[in-house]
Amino acid sequence: MRRPMVAGNWKMNGTRASVAELIESLRLQQLPAAVEIAVFPSCVYISQVLDGVNGIEIAVGAQDGATQAGFGALTGEVSPAQLADVGCKWVLVGHSERRLLLGESDEVVSRKFSAAQASGLKPVLCLGETLEERRAGKTLEVVERQLARVLDDQGIAAFESAVIAYEPVWAIGSGLTATPQQAQEVHAAIREQLSRRDRRVAEGVRLLYGGSVKAENAAELFSMADIDGGLIGGASLKADEFGAICRAAGN
Ligand code: PEP
Repeated sequence: MRRPMVAGNWKMNGTRASVAELIESLRLQQLPAAVEIAVFPSCVYISQVLDGVNGIEIAVGAQDGATQAGFGALTGEVSPAQLADVGCKWVLVGHSERRLLLGESDEVVSRKFSAAQASGLKPVLCLGETLEERRAGKTLEVVERQLARVLDDQGIAAFESAVIAYEPVWAIGSGLTATPQQAQEVHAAIREQLSRRDRRVAEGVRLLYGGSVKAENAAELFSMADIDGGLIGGASLKADEFGAICRAAGN
């Protein structure tokens, strides 16, 4: 049995005051113990969030980490070793906003995945197609290519301590959600691709769906066979909404 997971990507949002308020509201939520919950604040607020969630079952992750595991001359980057040092457990790798707006290639994503694991962090590897790619019938090809790069470089065993998030780019922040059937089709293809390397590992990997998930559509998405939870952007900034999504994953 795969333990469901709900991850909240706060993106480039928040101030010290609003982060404190959000944590206070999250602490009032009934969060299901059966669901693994993590939040990904802006890097500068990670320590504040870690202090704030002390005593409740919410892990903290970073939205990105550097391509190298150690320390050194890489101005402006944050080493995954530093993220682990302050108490992060997770890191997002290859979010589409970084792939598309900041030009992160499959190769860079694979190096970030590796550096994260070498530092003891668990990566959430984000995959997904653009609207043009979907319209051109290339969804499965694109997602397979993105995953293959990490599989070829890091090996299937690396996925024993990683999570994959399928996030169609056209559904992120747009209010358009993939239908449960569209999402399930891609999730099943991802699991099948993993399964060709190792069936046991493939069965254990959690596959999250991301893209305009809200309390009102979460339960239907999470009811699909290969959807093990969600990566939530906008709705994770509202504690009530996020709490309801977590509860939907626990049902
Ligand atoms: C995301 O940024 O990973 C995301 C899924 O955003 P949203 O839920 O706002 O579409």
